[in-house]
Amino acid sequence: MERIAAAPVTVVAGRVAMCDGGGGALGHPLEFIKLDAPYPAVCKYCGAKFISAEWGSGH
Ligand SMILES: [Zn+2]
Repeated sequence: MERIAAAPVTVVAGRVAMCDGGGGALGHPLEFIKLDAPYPAVCKYCGAKFISAEWGSGH
């Protein structure tokens, strides 16, 4: 749990992130994550965090 809480936020160009958990044994089905809010969205499979570059700058 600590590892997930400390996960860095990945900045994504555009409003949709794609996450597959990094592939391999630790991966999961490809998940599309909408980034419509100005705070990080969390992958429901692996806990990775994503935010749109549109929110990450100039705000
Ligand atoms: Zn994921």
